[in-house]
Amino acid sequence: MTDEAGEDLPFQRVALIGLGLIGSSIARSAREALPGVELRAYDSSADVRSRAERLELVDVLADDPAEAVAGADLVIFCVPVGAMAEAARSVAPHLAANAVVSDVGSSKGPVANALKGALPGALIIPAHPIAGTENSGPEAGFAGLFNNRWCILTPDQDADPDAVARLSAFWGKLGARVEVMDAGRHDLVLAVTSHLPHLIAFTIVGTASHLEAVTEGEVIKYSAGGFRDFTRIAASDPVMWRDIFLSNREAVLDVLGRFLGDLSQLEQAIRGGNGEELFDWFSRTRAIRRAIVYEGQDVAAPDFGRTGS
Ligand code: NAP
Repeated sequence: MTDEAGEDLPFQRVALIGLGLIGSSIARSAREALPGVELRAYDSSADVRSRAERLELVDVLADDPAEAVAGADLVIFCVPVGAMAEAARSVAPHLAANAVVSDVGSSKGPVANALKGALPGALIIPAHPIAGTENSGPEAGFAGLFNNRWCILTPDQDADPDAVARLSAFWGKLGARVEVMDAGRHDLVLAVTSHLPHLIAFTIVGTASHLEAVTEGEVIKYSAGGFRDFTRIAASDPVMWRDIFLSNREAVLDVLGRFLGDLSQLEQAIRGGNGEELFDWFSRTRAIRRAIVYEGQDVAAPDFGRTGS
């Protein structure tokens, strides 16, 4: 089957399990980019289902997982990492024989194991769009979320290449830049680039809140001095982040150990009045920030992500 422009559709019927930020963003993006694809969805929360119904996100909003995956040739699990196994078990008897099974979880090795355990013999191609916000729920999603963002696929080495190509084409249509990577490498890279920064933000905001008694409310008042950026990250969904740290435990503990070593090195430099070491360190980090802007992974605007605040 082809779309209006005569191009082959990578999938005909896509089922989304979980309609929060990521699931609803896939629905909105697919509506725009792949209007010929039938979209079906299920969310375990009746409240989310009725909100999604009002938003008219999909063609079929199912009342149970069986109805959602009926005849679907792509099923994407968009639930918290810790809920993947249960969500997969709920669709297991109803999955079409030709269905490609994927997910959007923020850790890949543990999620792949959970999906394989729940769906033995299924054609599983795990994926992770590196795109998101600190908001949750179906209202938080938007069509442009994946534009020019990476989506990393972590298929097993013996995965069907045609299925990998079709899933890559699907994410490409949604605006993402697709990369294939080993699951273990993904989990280490994301521990450095996402999980550790979130852990640091959760720590700093927690520490500042403990210090509120000392600073008498002035932390909030003068938050623009850097603290405000951490509060945005620290406002991320507690369920999602609890699950990520429990799931990607080994890689997170590895990079956390290295971070604590670096932190104590900076502590020594400050204690010893070693300005040269501090200057060199901060010059290297400034160059990293400039490289990220150069790569198009952020904009140089000073108030990025805080419009209107
Ligand atoms: P979200 O907004 O909280 O949405 C998740 C939805 O899944 C909720 O409506 C939840 O319902 C539902 N759900 C939970 N268990 C379920 C089950 N067994 N069957 C069906 N639905 C179920 O979360 P999100 O931000 O979209 O994150 C979804 C996944 O994407 C996570 O694995 C996360 O690691 C990954 N991810 C997130 C981001 C990000 O920035 N947010 C970025 C990339 C990847 P309840 O609320 O009732 O539990």
